[in-house]
Amino acid sequence: MRILDGKKLSEKIKNKVKEEVDKLKKEGITPGLAVILVGNDPASQTYVKMKKGACEKVGMYSVVHEFPESISEKELLTTIEMINKNPNLHGLLVQLPLPKHIDTTKVLEAVAPEKDVDGFHPYNMGKLFEGLESFAPCTPLGVMELFKEYNINLKGKDICIVGASNIVGKPMLSLLLNAWATVDICHIETKDLATHTKRADIVIVGVGKPNLITADMVKEGAIVVDIGINKVDGKIVGDVDFENVSKKAAYITPVPGGTGPMTIAMLLKNTIKATKLQKENK
Ligand code: NAD
Repeated sequence: MRILDGKKLSEKIKNKVKEEVDKLKKEGITPGLAVILVGNDPASQTYVKMKKGACEKVGMYSVVHEFPESISEKELLTTIEMINKNPNLHGLLVQLPLPKHIDTTKVLEAVAPEKDVDGFHPYNMGKLFEGLESFAPCTPLGVMELFKEYNINLKGKDICIVGASNIVGKPMLSLLLNAWATVDICHIETKDLATHTKRADIVIVGVGKPNLITADMVKEGAIVVDIGINKVDGKIVGDVDFENVSKKAAYITPVPGGTGPMTIAMLLKNTIKATKLQKENK
């Protein structure tokens, strides 16, 4: 069994990003990322802190707009509009989830597509689905980078994705289809999950349920990618029973240290991409 080491690869990517930042700075451009955080959700606060820290480490400019839970949708949309117009902020992301009184779709659609470094705008989602150049969501993009780094060929592979959300499973499906894999996507209503996972060469799971994927659900020599993040007895675990599945798998991602750090690295990479795009279009 080999570990798909997201921590190590993310460091390598961040070093490359830093070089890109230095180059852009020499041209008088400092890549800038704006993050919008609403409310006091501790997990969201932690993610935002990590994103800001990562930006600063590679020399990017980053600003966090923090708002109380009670902020109105209108105020939020006005802030987005302001950031969209700010030439010093090249990327903009809205940390999800948003409070119930705010229409998430409306908010995500307000982000300028060329600043949409999370890749959640329907314009970018549509382009990704069509196999066109776009901003792809950071978590599935990070999984693709791991496959590339470990020379895992996806062409013709049977891949089972477990979890079909807009931010994980669906964009993962598009990226894999674009790489010519044969993809099976499962969700809460899937009748018999194990029949799908067992026949897959690669299982990718992003659900949010510890131990959802057990050793009897994967075939010998499978590649297993765990996107899940769960807190159990104060410890961070994924959705895969790592101890037992790792005995059968050819490759597996650990949690922590797998897809998590890759997500942040991809956010930085997308911010560079946005900066260059806006530089060209000036
Ligand atoms: P979500 O709740 O939006 O979606 C969960 C998906 O899992 C849905 O499609 C649902 O139908 C499916 N599902 C639920 N129970 C299931 C079951 N028993 N069997 C099969 N499918 C089932 O969640 P999300 O935002 O996509 O996040 C999923 C997980 O990934 C969470 O643990 C989250 O913390 C984690 N996550 C990790 C990263 C990272 O950087 N590694 C990034 C984003 C999300």
